[in-house]
Amino acid sequence: MLPVIALVGRPNVGKSTLFNYLTRSREALVADYPGLTRDRQYGRVKRGKRDCLVVDTGGIADDGNGIEGFARKQVETALQEADVVFFMVDARAGLSASDQEIADTLRKLDKPVVLVANKIDGINADLACADFYDMALGEPVQIAASHGRGVKELLARIDALLPEEVEEEVEEEDQGIGIAVVGRPNVGKSTLVNRLLGEERVVVYDEAGTTRDSIYIPFERNEQKFTLIDTAGMRRRAKVSLAIEKFSIIKSLQAIEKANVVIYLIDAREGVTEQDAHLLGLVLEAGRALIIGLNKWDGISPEQKDMIKKQIEIKLPFLDFAEKHPISALHGSGVGKLFDVVHDLYEAAMIDMSTPILTRILNDALAAHQPPMVRGRRIKLKYAHQGGRNPPVVVVHGVQTDSLPGSYKRYLMNYYREQLGLRGTPVRLVFKSPE
Ligand code: GDP
Ligand code: GDP
Repeated sequence: MLPVIALVGRPNVGKSTLFNYLTRSREALVADYPGLTRDRQYGRVKRGKRDCLVVDTGGIADDGNGIEGFARKQVETALQEADVVFFMVDARAGLSASDQEIADTLRKLDKPVVLVANKIDGINADLACADFYDMALGEPVQIAASHGRGVKELLARIDALLPEEVEEEVEEEDQGIGIAVVGRPNVGKSTLVNRLLGEERVVVYDEAGTTRDSIYIPFERNEQKFTLIDTAGMRRRAKVSLAIEKFSIIKSLQAIEKANVVIYLIDAREGVTEQDAHLLGLVLEAGRALIIGLNKWDGISPEQKDMIKKQIEIKLPFLDFAEKHPISALHGSGVGKLFDVVHDLYEAAMIDMSTPILTRILNDALAAHQPPMVRGRRIKLKYAHQGGRNPPVVVVHGVQTDSLPGSYKRYLMNYYREQLGLRGTPVRLVFKSPE
């Protein structure tokens, strides 16, 4: 599981500044995929060989109107599910009463807390931080989030606090095709999970998912192994028809991480919401193959059907690669077909691509459409090789690739997708130039 860092602190201490600094890798994606927005609350920290999830709890609490209750609940959930809490204070403002209150709450939480004193740029940091020792949360790590100063040291500090990383390689080999069913509360996730597992010709192995707290539900269909990754006891919930809402964005993100293929459900009766767009942005960031299931397709009007299809095009242009499938989890229509789609997407996500083929496709793409001139010189792209799977990564070597515009990157990305027949998976292009 990806370790989770929660950013906590009173308003204005610099949480979102630190969040933005930590999640810079999103910027490149945002530039490459039109319509993709930066998620201001949940993000991924690129960090050595082990990435983390970071949650800005202030960002959630401030989200305001309408989803207040939901937002507050997600703050609690985030704190409960965090592995490490970064408690931020403002070195310029000094210790305040609300800092003390937060410190009291955190003490009860019984989680590793790192005290982070921000805004130390241009002041006598040691002097400014002296008061913070009163909270008995240890020595504050001094940073200036807006400059990135001290952030590396901060990240280094958490290694000792994170749970041991368990070798999961073997398990991944065995799991076959990992599927995560994700979506907002009440879109029909539990109904779909039970429907998938209840399909004829599905053999569910040991009742792990129902008896223990396991989140992996292995099964086999037509001699193909699958593993369903449960996010919040979805299967059990529907079995005993508990109405308790256990929706957790963090758990969803972790299931996405473990999966090869994500089935993201949208309630066709409600359409695409802001929150759908956020969650889907995070699916894209994780690089997973994606099926958008338009659920509750039963009994909606033809006008509504047209509208939702249009809405997806307009609100989620960055997901043009994703497969869209109308289904009814309740009645089962369209559900059986999902297995074949999942299988095809998995094959696409795990494809092996040879250097000669990738380089030939690159040359064809260049011949059809040259890269633009930059400062009177043409950007050169020379050869390509594979850099990863799930998602497929194509590493393109050239000269001046930093100046390549997003539109040309998208052209290349789509060219590769078309030539390789890659269905439903994002394709990542990485450009390398000599220093
Ligand atoms: P949040 O409410 O905790 O998310 O705080 P913000 O990230 O919005 O930051 C509040 C203000 O502090 C903004 O005006 C930031 O520009 C400023 N700020 C954040 N980090 C630093 C820092 O390291 N040094 C200085 N001088 N200002 C900072
Ligand atoms: P979850 O919170 O995403 O796991 O959603 P549930 O599976 O608990 O479903 C929420 C509600 O939507 C339940 O009352 C389901 O019966 C209903 N539901 C789920 N799928 C469908 C569907 O395809 N059509 C209709 N009409 N209702 C559905």
